[in-house]
Amino acid sequence: MSLKPKILIVDDNVSNIIVIEELLSDLDVELIRARSGLEAIEKTKGQEFSLILMDVQMPGMDGFEAVEIIRQDGKNLLLPIIYITAIYNENYYRTKGIKTGAVDFIAKPIIPDLFIGKVTLFVNLYKQRIILEEEIQKRKEAEEEMKAARDEAREAAHAKQLFLSTMSHEIRTPLNAIVNTAKLLKEENPRDDQREDIEILEFSAENLLHLINDILDFSKIDAGKIEFEAIEFEIRKLLNGVHQSFDYQATMKELSFEFLIADDVPSVIIGDSARLSQILINLIGNAIKFTEKGKVMVEAKVLGHRDDFVDIVLRVSDTGIGIPADKLQFVFESFTQASSSTTRKYGGTGLGLAITKKLVYLQGGTIEVKSEPGKGSVFSVIMPFRMSTKEFLEENMLLKTSFQSLAGLKILVVEDNLVNQKIVSKFLMKWDVNVDLAENGAIAVEKARRSVYDLVLMDLHMPEMNGYDATLEIRKMENNPNKDIPIIALTASAFIEDREKIYTYGMSGYIIKPFNPSELYWKIAPFVRK
Ligand code: ADP
Repeated sequence: MSLKPKILIVDDNVSNIIVIEELLSDLDVELIRARSGLEAIEKTKGQEFSLILMDVQMPGMDGFEAVEIIRQDGKNLLLPIIYITAIYNENYYRTKGIKTGAVDFIAKPIIPDLFIGKVTLFVNLYKQRIILEEEIQKRKEAEEEMKAARDEAREAAHAKQLFLSTMSHEIRTPLNAIVNTAKLLKEENPRDDQREDIEILEFSAENLLHLINDILDFSKIDAGKIEFEAIEFEIRKLLNGVHQSFDYQATMKELSFEFLIADDVPSVIIGDSARLSQILINLIGNAIKFTEKGKVMVEAKVLGHRDDFVDIVLRVSDTGIGIPADKLQFVFESFTQASSSTTRKYGGTGLGLAITKKLVYLQGGTIEVKSEPGKGSVFSVIMPFRMSTKEFLEENMLLKTSFQSLAGLKILVVEDNLVNQKIVSKFLMKWDVNVDLAENGAIAVEKARRSVYDLVLMDLHMPEMNGYDATLEIRKMENNPNKDIPIIALTASAFIEDREKIYTYGMSGYIIKPFNPSELYWKIAPFVRK
């Protein structure tokens, strides 16, 4: 507080004022005089006082009237006022004084100690109020700064999300081309040295794709945008699928690779099977990556039941390099690797376990790790799943489909990117499919009016007319055999919202770019089974 508290002394008699000034000369205050009620009113307009010492009997306007007017100004509503009067004992004065909000009366002749004591008390109260007000002001400012920072952070998060989804699309499209061109090249009998180069190309592009997927996933989780599905699935089939997909890698490293599924694990459970695969793929991928000899084992068993939930323990253990004790607690943090040489030797981003942990926790599970350097690591996940009443699921068409020839089918490929057009057509032509091309939605609709197709592969983002609108147009065609044909979206988006949108526009399924030939085959085959 920089300024001294001010006290207004109101008295028509200057010698009374001088006496009061003398008495208060030791206080650290500024004393201001007013010689009449009117002058007092004037002075309170421009400045703030800590206290008014008001004489009651004055010619013209008396002290009570002056105070009534002073109180009309909102800022003076609680201003302490002490009346100084020789006749305060009379009832009339007392009630009047109290009505105008006097805090005290002081009798003339003034008793110095009592007077100084009272004034000091009010000045101190005033000082404390000012300190409090300053404190409140500071807090308000801090709060406002915080609010502004929060708004800014929200905007930044939104911009980041937008940037990532746009970039993922932009990056995946050319990556799609690179990965698939490499695959095609490999099948065209390259020389051995060329094959090696092509494999490096393919491997690197796939790695890059993996990285983009990780970053996208991470940002989605970060933005609280991730949603989990609750669908019935057969966990043994899922585990078998994961087993098969890593079999090649494990065999190449001459590792023993075992899956043990306890009998009490239910056949059908309800949860997000894709996310469960992702969790297992991350853990098993690491186990194989960081193990040079010995074995990698995956175990599944039931921990217990709660209401209609079953807690399943999934353990992934390896006999690999292990993780030093001082690094163990950090492995689940983002962008963390146990040692800086890890990246050089094994690659990776340090995002896999951070994502895995979040996926597990967001679904109500837990994850922990035990590890000993040189001996190996054990990652244990406990996940709750809702129980299903079913013993098995109707085999879906995809699994029932034995190898189905696609020869002779007529498929319309709608895609604006020439390289992608070429790659998809090349794959399809290998299976003796008759391919027709359209470079945007409008052309696709035109073609669908004129020829009959067995299936449409539909890119979503295209100039002129996008894939959603083109699908709507085709679905609206009366008396046209194409009206109900399968339309499969080709999308680069990893966002679940986009996938849901695909169905609301009447498409029959989707395939995420970049895809490999067998994915493409398995997406098409179920639809063409007669
Ligand atoms: P990265 O993409 O680097 O593998 P992760 O988040 O999956 O990222 O793993 C973080 C780090 O934890 C790894 O770099 C590695 O140092 C350590 N780690 C994870 N799993 C294992 C394992 N099974 N054996 C040894 N170290 C592991």
